[in-house]
Amino acid sequence: MSDSGLIGLLASPIMTFGGEIFGPLATLTNVDIFGRKKSPTLPPWPESAGPVEAEDCRVAACPSCGVALKKVPGAKTKCQDCGELMYVRTDPRINARVVVTKDQADIIDLAWAVVNGTLDEKVEEMSHHAQVRAALPPQFSEADVQWRMLNEDGLKFSHKGDMYAYQQNVSKMAEHLRECGNLQHALQMYLASAYLVIQGPQSIPEMGRWLPETFIAPIGIEVDYVRSLCERLGMTFEDALENESRVATIEEKTKRPPVRWEEAKIVILDELRAG
Ligand SMILES: [Zn+2]
Repeated sequence: MSDSGLIGLLASPIMTFGGEIFGPLATLTNVDIFGRKKSPTLPPWPESAGPVEAEDCRVAACPSCGVALKKVPGAKTKCQDCGELMYVRTDPRINARVVVTKDQADIIDLAWAVVNGTLDEKVEEMSHHAQVRAALPPQFSEADVQWRMLNEDGLKFSHKGDMYAYQQNVSKMAEHLRECGNLQHALQMYLASAYLVIQGPQSIPEMGRWLPETFIAPIGIEVDYVRSLCERLGMTFEDALENESRVATIEEKTKRPPVRWEEAKIVILDELRAG
């Protein structure tokens, strides 16, 4: 597909929520992200083809200013020339990986929300984004806007007593800090996230905020991030657990989860060493 064709598709009037969004999507994607058939009314993939792998249409150029890049971006990257963020997405409408601007990435995320049946949540998130953007002075960056949104979401989940959503949000905050290159604070946030995972955070406040004290939940992915950040920061696991526990201990004081940080540290250290 030519570049102009791609841009034409990306700029298609998906924001109207009208017929257009369902037309091209319905014909281009008849399996969901797990490769399952979506709707019996849609035409199936040809028997022999199977789920079609996304075509790689990424190019080594900034989608905002057009400057040539040294390499094709593999993930969200900041353009050294214009300072805008570049996003890597798989566009479900054309089944292709592309490098796009923030606005184009938003449109692709909307297309995925339609595919996955999560359009309501996506629209709510976009309206939250617009609200925060309008409330912050113009010199604040997109990263600042996202950070403010994450903080507001965290307060909301904490207030509702939805500790699972709260922990997931702490994990997103850690990821945001890591993407912004703020590795030390990312490490502190991942440790806090691991600490919350250990508690077995629950989504249904009526069932209690955490699983019973006798149960220590497995940590999972957070430990991998802690390990890799320790490596990048040239820090031992012991140092990290001792000196980068600021956020974890704030969670301990404010959320009062059943497992104390001193106990959790031992569990986290075991998992770090096991990897
Ligand atoms: Zn640029």
